[in-house]
Amino acid sequence: MIVNHEKLTKVVEAICVAAGAGASEASMTAGHLVEANLKGHDSHGVGMIPIYVNNLKKGFCQPDSHAEVLSSNGSIVVVDGKLGFGQVVGPESMDIGIDVARQHGIAVVALKNAHHLGRIGAHAERVAAQGMISIHYVNVVGHDPQVSPFGGTVPRLGTNPFCCAIPVEGDDPIVLDMATSAIAAGKVRVALNSGLNVPDGCLIDAEGNETTDPKVITLNPAGSQTHFGKHKGFGLAFICEVLAGALTGAWSVQPGNIRQGTVVNHMLAFIIDPKMIGDTDSFTSETKALIEYIKSTPTAKDVDSVLIPGEPERIAKANREVNGIPIDETSWQGIVAAGATVGVTAEMISAMLA
Ligand code: NAD
Repeated sequence: MIVNHEKLTKVVEAICVAAGAGASEASMTAGHLVEANLKGHDSHGVGMIPIYVNNLKKGFCQPDSHAEVLSSNGSIVVVDGKLGFGQVVGPESMDIGIDVARQHGIAVVALKNAHHLGRIGAHAERVAAQGMISIHYVNVVGHDPQVSPFGGTVPRLGTNPFCCAIPVEGDDPIVLDMATSAIAAGKVRVALNSGLNVPDGCLIDAEGNETTDPKVITLNPAGSQTHFGKHKGFGLAFICEVLAGALTGAWSVQPGNIRQGTVVNHMLAFIIDPKMIGDTDSFTSETKALIEYIKSTPTAKDVDSVLIPGEPERIAKANREVNGIPIDETSWQGIVAAGATVGVTAEMISAMLA
């Protein structure tokens, strides 16, 4: 089905409120999730609602929690998300970091215990909108790992995202925002729900053989996702695990820590004010010249143009704002069923979409 983004936002807000969220927290969460769909990342969009509702019911997500500064030492701020919505404590911790970076030129924000932070690019874009650069290392815990280390055959890591956004004055920011797995876990879920295969090189079965069938993740023993770029992606995922998991959250993926079927993100983010490094006019003109040079690269067969990181998301958004957001039937039924468990009936949802 194809759904209008504004109506979809109302549905998600209503489900979040019925599941225990306040109006403001529900609005921030719904806005973030629908924006992920608009930007083409259905893996991190409204398809997460059944997981969020389940986590709210079990107390794994605390809808009233807000970011709390545990310590602030010069440019280093340690923030506890207290298992609040990542869509609430994520932006709050970025705003704290922006203020610190304005003062010191750089902020190191160690955000621990956030319920799922969603699309990390959203947090980076918030920083870029204030003219600042940010670099984010994130780990994912609270549930069984899904990604096998390079050379392994069973899962040992989460999909640990890395993100960097750079503002370009008068233009859109550069936003590299990626899972360190070959594809995000949610993309395996979406393929499974849609009856599709995943691209080559993204999954292995429990014996370590490459496969494109997403069903392997449902088997016992389960298959694993693989990293992008072989040992290099694995290396970056491992760095995320150490910086975000061991250092920031004191909660890495190692099996001594709790795994109860929830999604917790820890994030170590660096926020840099470019004005404190050099002449912003030359930074802007040099970056723009670089973008122009890269975009003028002659293209391969069947490629329309070379894109800068962040562009595919803006193209998807321009399209989906006009033409609607496609949602596969299984994902939609999951959202409707999750709504029903908190009193938002299928009839109420139909009325909101009418
Ligand atoms: P992706 O592979 O679709 O894109 C990764 C990056 O590559 C993006 O910055 C994109 O702009 C860029 N890109 C894509 N195609 C391009 C092209 N043709 N030319 C140039 N650049 C291009 O993203 P992904 O790895 O599937 O991650 C999806 C989302 O999942 C991200 O928003 C990430 O933050 C999120 N994620 C979140 C968690 C979590 O626990 N919160 C975990 C994993 C991933």
